[in-house]
Amino acid sequence: VEADVCRLADAPSQTRCGTPLHFYSNIDFKEEIPSVRNAGAEGVGLFRSENLFIDNTKPPQEAEQQAYYSDMAEALAPDPLVIRLFDIGGDKLIYSSIREPNPNLGWRGIRILIDVPDILDSQLLAILKANTRRNIQVLMPMISSIEEITQIRTTLERHVLALRESGTTCDMPKIGAMIEIPAAVLLIDEITKMVDFISIGTNDLTQYTLAVDRNNEIVQDLFDKFHPAIIRQLHTIITTANRNSCKVSLCGDMGSDPLALPFLLGCGLREFSIVSADIAQLKSIARYLTVDSSRQLAEACLTLDSAAKIKERLKEYQAQHV
Ligand code: PEP
Ligand code: MG
Repeated sequence: VEADVCRLADAPSQTRCGTPLHFYSNIDFKEEIPSVRNAGAEGVGLFRSENLFIDNTKPPQEAEQQAYYSDMAEALAPDPLVIRLFDIGGDKLIYSSIREPNPNLGWRGIRILIDVPDILDSQLLAILKANTRRNIQVLMPMISSIEEITQIRTTLERHVLALRESGTTCDMPKIGAMIEIPAAVLLIDEITKMVDFISIGTNDLTQYTLAVDRNNEIVQDLFDKFHPAIIRQLHTIITTANRNSCKVSLCGDMGSDPLALPFLLGCGLREFSIVSADIAQLKSIARYLTVDSSRQLAEACLTLDSAAKIKERLKEYQAQHV
C-alpha cells in the first residue's frame, strides 16, 4: 500500500472492480488550496468558514468575506468549493459572552445564524457575490429540523432575487445540510428531498448519538465511531440519500480511517471529504476493494451489536483484501 501512495495522488480514484470514488479536501484556510491540488483532491468538500472570525469572536465584514471566498473559488474553478456557513458556538468559537452550562447542546451553528440575521445575511451575500465561477456550494451546519433548512433556503432565495434586481448576475447555489445530529438522521427521508446534497459529520454525530463530549478526555474511550448505533445510522443516511437521488458525502474524521472505508463503500458512499494529507492513502486502499465484497461486509456489520465485534470484522476484511 505505501509504495502506491505517491504514485496515486494524481490518478483518478477507483475500486478494484472499477467503481469511481471521489475525494475532496477539508480545509480551514485558503492558504491550504495548493495542498488540495497536490493531494489530488477534486475540490474542497468542506471549508470551515468559522476560521475567518476575527480574534475568535467577531464576524468578518461582508467585503472581506467576499474577497476571501472569491480567491478560493477562483483558484479551484471549475472544481467545487463547499463553504460551510459559520459553525460558531459549542466547543468552537465563543461568539457571545454568554456562558452556557452545556455549550455543545446550546447556541451553536445554524441556531446562531437564524437568531442573528446580520451574520447570516453578510455571509450569504458575500458567497453569492463571490460565486462568479459558479462553483461555490453552501453547507448548513448543525441541522436538526426541516424549518431550519426552509429558513436558510428562503433567505438565500431572497438575496438572489434582490441581487438580480439590482443588476448583479447571480445564480442560486447548490445547498446542502450537515447530517451530524440524530434528529436529522430520523428526518433523513425528508431532508434528502429538500436539499441538493448532504454531508455526514461523523464527529458530531458520534458526540450527539452517544452523549459523549468529543473533547472530554475522561470519556474518550466511549467516543467510538464504530458503535453499532453510528454504523446503523450511516447505513440509513447513505441508502436513503441514494434512493432519493440526493448527493451524499462524508466529511467527518471517519472518512480518513482505512478500516471504515470498505464499510462506507458497502453502504453506497462514493464521495469523501478528508484532510488532504490522507487522500493518497485512502485512494490506494480503495484499489484493493470491490463493491460486492464491501456490500457483504456492510450487511454483516449491521447485524453486530458491539463496536468491538464490528472492528474485529472490519480488521478481518482488511487482512483478507488489503
Ligand atoms: C463533524 O462534525 O464531523 C464535522 C465534519 O464538522 P466539525 O468537526 O467541524 O464539527
Ligand atoms: Mg460538526
